[in-house]
Amino acid sequence: MLTHTLGYPRMGSNRELKKKLESYWKGDAGRDDLSLTAKKLRALHWEDQKKAGVDILPVGDFSYYDHMLDNAVRFGVIPKRYNISGRNASLDDYFRMARGEAGENGVAAMEMTKWFDTNYHYIVPEFCRDQKFFLADESLLQQVDEAASQDHRIKAVLPGPLTFLLLGKCADQEFDRLDLLEGLLPVYVELIEKLSAKCEWIQFDEPVLALDLDENVRRLFAPVYRTFKEAAASTKVMVASYFGGLGENLETVAALPVDALHVDLVRGGQDLEPLLAKIAGNMSLSLGVVDGRNIWRADLDKAVSAVNKAAIALGEDRIFVAPSCSLLHVPFDLDLETELDAEIKSWMAFARQKCAEVRTVADAVSGQDVEEALMENRRILESRKVSPKVNNPEVAKRLAALKPEDYHRKSAYEQRAEIQRSLGFPLLPTTTIGSFPQTSEVRSTRSGFKSGRIERADYEKFMRGYIEDCIRRQEEIGLDVLVHGEPERNDMVEYFGENFDGYCFTSNGWVQSYGSRCVKPPVIFGDVSRPGPITVEWINYARSLSEREVKGMLTGPVTILCWSFVRDDQPRSETCRQIALAVRDEVADLEKSGVKVIQIDEPALREGLPLRKSEQAEYLEWAEECFRLSSSCVEDATQIHTHMCYCEFDEIMGSIAALDADVISIEASRSRMELLGSFKQFHYPNEVGPGVYDIHSPAIPAADDMALLLEKALEVIPAERLWVNPDCGLKTRKWDEVIPALKNMVQAAETVRLKIK
Ligand code: GLN
Ligand code: ZN
Repeated sequence: MLTHTLGYPRMGSNRELKKKLESYWKGDAGRDDLSLTAKKLRALHWEDQKKAGVDILPVGDFSYYDHMLDNAVRFGVIPKRYNISGRNASLDDYFRMARGEAGENGVAAMEMTKWFDTNYHYIVPEFCRDQKFFLADESLLQQVDEAASQDHRIKAVLPGPLTFLLLGKCADQEFDRLDLLEGLLPVYVELIEKLSAKCEWIQFDEPVLALDLDENVRRLFAPVYRTFKEAAASTKVMVASYFGGLGENLETVAALPVDALHVDLVRGGQDLEPLLAKIAGNMSLSLGVVDGRNIWRADLDKAVSAVNKAAIALGEDRIFVAPSCSLLHVPFDLDLETELDAEIKSWMAFARQKCAEVRTVADAVSGQDVEEALMENRRILESRKVSPKVNNPEVAKRLAALKPEDYHRKSAYEQRAEIQRSLGFPLLPTTTIGSFPQTSEVRSTRSGFKSGRIERADYEKFMRGYIEDCIRRQEEIGLDVLVHGEPERNDMVEYFGENFDGYCFTSNGWVQSYGSRCVKPPVIFGDVSRPGPITVEWINYARSLSEREVKGMLTGPVTILCWSFVRDDQPRSETCRQIALAVRDEVADLEKSGVKVIQIDEPALREGLPLRKSEQAEYLEWAEECFRLSSSCVEDATQIHTHMCYCEFDEIMGSIAALDADVISIEASRSRMELLGSFKQFHYPNEVGPGVYDIHSPAIPAADDMALLLEKALEVIPAERLWVNPDCGLKTRKWDEVIPALKNMVQAAETVRLKIK
């Protein structure tokens, strides 16, 4: 029984690609140096997978930046502003599209957005109405040759045309991007014909099949793939769906005129039976039974039984075994983790280990003797299930004892607002989102402390100095509600994870977020709880320095969940409730120590939305509950803030209101307050701080302009409920940008206040 993967991590065991890319961008490494690194990594990764037992290897999953950008460049879809029409893009052009270019002749980068519900970000292709396509880049063919010369069985992989068009955007005016299909297909065909002489398989990624699609979109799949199949001649064509079940799209894909279909059985297990019943004539089925999205060992018995069922129905030779999706979304190799607790480590599998799991499943079904591996898998899963590291009866007890009133503030917002007047804030209070510039000194002190190079006393002294500096500067600027600046946090999720039980950290568990940027998500392995206060001392130190209110700063439960690797042995909602309780404990301690304003950030609330509409309501319901559970233990007089930095609120307005935070700050300046439309339509009842200062740009916003934005906001939000703040935290900015910008912001608030009175 054959095995394959849909893609492999790109960066290398030691993030070699990241490092080489960054030194190339700096001008330290040359073009040849970079391409040599890339070539070496590709060879290593193929070899790696082959050794682990993968039969058919993906070629084309490698990328210098992003696979959607690769596809855009491949087919000549290059926005006009880069001035490359009529010729092929060079590698430097490619990087200009990905990253933009500063300076006089500078040009903006292409937009980047989340790849489905992963934490990977892709570059959004920009199509214009009269888009011309041509085969502008043949690196896929070269990589296929490269793999062939290394004697591999090859499957070329690239985004399918429907996913490519649907996930793109219209460059200028809106139009139906699917109208471009007619022009795009001949160029795909040209490439397919060239590939067909060289490889055994071509895999077209169509993850849009995990989304709700219109009937008129579904109808396009069969003719497109009929054309591709013809062009491929003796090379076989596979369509890959992943990140969810097929839902309404199942009948369409089951009847596609292709050689194989890949499905994600980890998230779409319910698809197996109907697929077996409906799958076309001699189509093969690739079963994604090993989770490509998390770091846990698979339940091999479960996988074997699914594959077995399919093998009985279709015959062994029509089945492939695979991970559920590309392994891009998991770290490279568990063997590199030398610091992890041995027991917890034994429960995990990274990309390399997942390849081996895929092999074991295939071997088991085809009757090879893998009993030992299966037994070990059973033993390990059992040990995980019963381990005291995972199960904390106290947490279960607390959750079971929760009462409905634990999810609600004592009084409604109107009464609370009345009581909170005693906080004495002026009309249009000014504040910031939490972080202040993280200078290299801050970062090196923090990492020095972590690695033991810096003594605790010195570390604390430094941090106190930074906090004091932040408070003085904010007073000087004239802000009304102050923050301590968050210098002790490397990352808003990692910081809390480090201070919760049930969390562990890898030393090399990097996952690509975008381009050369990698993140190392913390891992939730067991019941989460908070052993003791986390932020209380820092906040109170900051409070001791000023007469003004200083906000307590926490990360919300949904965001902590979304940005971690989570358990696969209980529902996400359950894990989220545990985190909510831990955050609630911190909220209670902050309040007890005298903190009057507490902000609980939830920037990930929206991105946690399931891909399918039918699953969204349930998610939103528990997400709201978890936020309220974390925040509603306080007295009416304590003001709860939340923060979200995105600007598409329309579909989730009800949930935003249901959080019942006293104040919400949101990103709004880049859309020039446009999003407030949704707040108006919905009659959002509580206080709002729509950002007036775009923190993504080094530009210093003028006071007049921010005053204008505030006046715009006042058309929608009454003055008593309007706050003044930037779009997001300031940690990536420099002090000499932040100070004048915030001074202007305070001045804008003053100007507008005078007009109101
Ligand atoms: N309080 C955090 C900060 O200011 C919020 C960051 C975020 O929204 N992503 O950095
Ligand atoms: Zn933000």
